[in-house]
Amino acid sequence: MERHSRKKLNLIGQTYGHLLVTGPAPNIGNRTAWHCQCDCGRKTVVKTCHLRSGHTTSCGQCLNGGVSSLTYIDGTCVEMLRAKTVRRNNTSGVPGVDWRASKGVWRASICFKGKRQYLGSFSKFEDAVKARKQAEERLHDQFLAEFDRTAPH
Ligand SMILES: [Zn+2]
Repeated sequence: MERHSRKKLNLIGQTYGHLLVTGPAPNIGNRTAWHCQCDCGRKTVVKTCHLRSGHTTSCGQCLNGGVSSLTYIDGTCVEMLRAKTVRRNNTSGVPGVDWRASKGVWRASICFKGKRQYLGSFSKFEDAVKARKQAEERLHDQFLAEFDRTAPH
């Protein structure tokens, strides 16, 4: 007799990036979650959807602390991309969007593979953010897809 188990998957023993799933954790909201052990030794709880989508691949602390080894390809850090880490040392609070006071425009740019690409200047802040977001998705998703295809796991 076939069982329709749309219930909880068993991810124990699976690895996702730096994380090894060690056991089921209580739900987070209405999402199932798992206890994971990171390569750096820390333990963390991650939602199933974040594990399976590749959204979360470490405890999130070792990346900031620089404890674990990071993977750089062409000057782009794979883990930073995955973690969607943003640098907030710019004028707008949005990564890749800067206010150009001399021209009175918002300039959107993206740093990819060690090079900064300019996406254009916009009179409206929202338009600059949108341009940046689109470029981010295009470049970063493409990059991670390439990485996943070629990297040994
Ligand atoms: Zn870690």
